[in-house]
Order: sequence, then structure tokens, then C-alpha cells
Amino acid sequence: MALLEQALRAFEERFGSGPEIAAQAPGRVNLIGEHIDYNDGLVLPMAIDRYTVIAGGRTTGDGYHFYLPGRDQFFSAPDLKLGDHSPPWAGYVLGVLKQFELAGFPVPPLRAVIVSDVPPGSGLSSSAALEVATATLAEQLTGHIMAPMEKAYLCQRAEHESAGVPCGIMDQASAILCQRDSVLELDCRDQNHRQLPFVPEGLGVLVTNSKVQHNLATGNYATRRQECELAASKLDIASWRHLTPDQFDQISACLPETLLRRGQHVVSEIARTLQASEAIESGQWSSLGELLYQSHESLRDHFQVSCPELDLLVDFTSDLPGVLGSRMTGGGFGGCTVSLIELAERPFIERAIVTKYQAATGMEPELFVTRPSDGAQPISL
Ligand code: ADP
Ligand code: MG
Repeated sequence: MALLEQALRAFEERFGSGPEIAAQAPGRVNLIGEHIDYNDGLVLPMAIDRYTVIAGGRTTGDGYHFYLPGRDQFFSAPDLKLGDHSPPWAGYVLGVLKQFELAGFPVPPLRAVIVSDVPPGSGLSSSAALEVATATLAEQLTGHIMAPMEKAYLCQRAEHESAGVPCGIMDQASAILCQRDSVLELDCRDQNHRQLPFVPEGLGVLVTNSKVQHNLATGNYATRRQECELAASKLDIASWRHLTPDQFDQISACLPETLLRRGQHVVSEIARTLQASEAIESGQWSSLGELLYQSHESLRDHFQVSCPELDLLVDFTSDLPGVLGSRMTGGGFGGCTVSLIELAERPFIERAIVTKYQAATGMEPELFVTRPSDGAQPISL
């Protein structure tokens, strides 16, 4: 059943009448430019054709009431206090509504249903999809329609303050700005962005979910961010963006081993992403694939945010005919890989990955080919 239909049915069953409005926001896969959104780099994400849908309506009673039919979980809050929430998803939703209130646009008492086919905690940014879908609904409810980046920052504040994840801006910006058949080139230094047409003939983007769940809040994400800040301050640089890998080599001898590695990733990934953008514009698909492999090596060895399962998935592809490149995507420590593949070889590639991964780990990966999709939208009912 389509997501919207699921949401409408669940709303009717739970609340006894239909919702007034609905909104959707997609997950995203980042092609390249990992862990550099908070280091002034460029990132190249695309929205995937998987969405979070929220359907809601004002209530004459008090408070905020949410139902997730997929988990059969209900959450009710009398008001919008920040703090620990159980279940955790409620923190993201209330966090966004709280930010509307803080901005001077209080959201009226509300009941809503949330459904999604973005796998949570897999590096495909289910958290931003949830925040941005909620914000898109709240825009309709309050009449406060925001500029895209204003909305992205509002959602980012919600994630920082309500979920305790010091994320960069890529995920929220992607869920809002991405367009069908394009990769978003977002410059995280000044938020300039443009759409790079991405319809490579005969090629597709394969996402492989390792089924290893990451946990960014308690994981190492915050540590990596701090390490980058510390390395930048030791090097006395205002921004990583101005440093080429060669310049970094000349000034980095003062850094302890760990910070040296972090810096090596940041400067090389910024350079790779610039090259990847050029490769996309000129249709140099094998160069793009090579950059994906290089990015993975750097994330594994220098930034140290991969895990054995992601390394296996990337290693399996390296000698498979029809795979141009592959790497872990998202924050790391689990989640998904993204690979650029020849669609003619897709059945063979998928079979080979599943067989090898199962033999090595006992787990069954989830694979899907996705196309660049549209960002968040209100849905008319
Ligand atoms: P990612 O954004 O890569 O999926 P995060 O750790 O940032 O991973 O966010 C995952 C968390 O977001 C989940 O643990 C859950 O609390 C919340 N979440 C996002 N989407 C949903 C959803 N559709 N249903 C329930 N929880 C969700
Ligand atoms: Mg997230």
C-alpha cells in the first residue's frame, strides 16, 4: 500500500476522522563528500525514492498526539518541553514544533500519523526526513512558509537540541532541496547550491544496507567533530576549505597521529568532492567510481568511521564486473554503502553481494537501486 494511503487509513482508525493536511520528505544518499559538511566542504547528496509521510490535523483539545502505525506506538505531549523523550522519535517531531514556537509561530494542538519507508539508523537520513516532513506540515498549519535553507537550519537546531546529535546541515538541506534526476551540489561553507543533472545512461545507484545499526548520538560522531575542530585550531586555520592536500602535508607535522589522520581525510575528501562534481558534469563515470573507492579508503583508514561489515561490502564489489565504485555513505559505524553500477549487471551484482555477505556475516543485506528524487512537499488531500 502506498505510504499516503497507509497514513490516511491509520489516521482514520486512530482518530475517527480524516486528516486535514499531509507532507512528505525523502531520505537521501550522499554520493560523496562525507563528514565534510561540518568542515566547510562540498557535498553531493541525492534524495532517494523513499519517504516519510506525516498526515495531521488540528484538534479542539490540548496537546500534541502522534501515532506510528508501523511500530504501533502512540505518543502524547501536553506541551512542547525539550528534554529526553521516549520513544526517541518523539524528540525529533516535538523538537521541530518547538523550533516553530521559538521562532514566534506556535503550532496549534495537533494530532498526526507518521509512516515511512526510509530505514532508520542506516545512514539514509531518516532523522532529517522525519524533521523536514514535520516542518513541512507545520508550515501549512502556521502559515509560516520558510525559505529552504531557513527551514533546513530550523530542522538542524531541532536535531541538535532535541536529539543531541551535533549534525551538519547536509541531511536537512538534502531533504528539502533535492530534485528528481539531479545530484545536489551543496557548498557547506556558504550554502550556495546547484543541481547537477544526473541521469547516467545505463548506470544506476545501488544502496546496500549492511543492517548494522549505527547510533550517532552515543557513537563517535561528536568526537570526530571535536577532533576536526581541535586539528584546525592547532593548525591555526580558519577553515579546512582553503587547504589543499599538499599544503596540509607541509604544515601538519605538528599534529598528533589521530588528528593527522582526521585532517588527511578532510582535505582529501574536499578535493575528491570537487573532482566528483566535475566528473558528474562531464559524464566521466569511471572517474566518479574511482573517487568513491578512494573516499571509502580514507573514511576507513584516516577518519576511522567504517566498520568490518561496510568494509566487506565495499571489498566484495571491487572485483565484480559492472561495479564502477563503492563506498560507505552517511555517518558510518554501520548503515549503508552506495555503489555506482551498470544496470545490465544488476542481477549478477546483487546476487554476488548477498551471497558473499551472508557467508561472511550470517546477515542478509537489503539492496535497492534508487533514482534521484524530489525533496519535501506538502501533499494535497
Ligand atoms: P539516520 O538519520 O541515518 O537514519 P539517525 O540516528 O540520525 O540515523 O536517526 C535515526 C533515528 O530517527 C531513529 O532511531 C528514530 O529515533 C528516528 N526516526 C527517524 N525516522 C523514523 C520513523 N519513520 N519512525 C520512527 N523513528 C524514526
Ligand atoms: Mg540522521
